[in-house]
Amino acid sequence: MAINQLITCKMCGKKYQIFIPRAKLYAVEGVPEEELSFWRRVDFEDEVTGGIIASEVSADRAGAEFIDSRGMEFFRCRGCGSFWRMDALIKAMRYNPGPTTMVTIQL
Ligand SMILES: [Zn+2]
Repeated sequence: MAINQLITCKMCGKKYQIFIPRAKLYAVEGVPEEELSFWRRVDFEDEVTGGIIASEVSADRAGAEFIDSRGMEFFRCRGCGSFWRMDALIKAMRYNPGPTTMVTIQL
């Protein structure tokens, strides 16, 4: 199952559900390259079995905008223009587990 994180922009309250590939998540945590290649295969499986589409559907149900973080270094709020580095966002979500993480502007 794909990893998704619901976040609410602290500045404007807009809700997002961000799909985060495991390889991206574990790269931020400093997992070694050999292990990352394993997670890249898991991510590929997720993709070809419809895991990402399922994430989009669940975002719709949660009333959140779906964001696919693949290849994304920065994330910019469409509501207010605030932006965050994806790695800072991933760290914030790891340190504050739960369905919704209020995030602050981080560069
Ligand atoms: Zn915002």
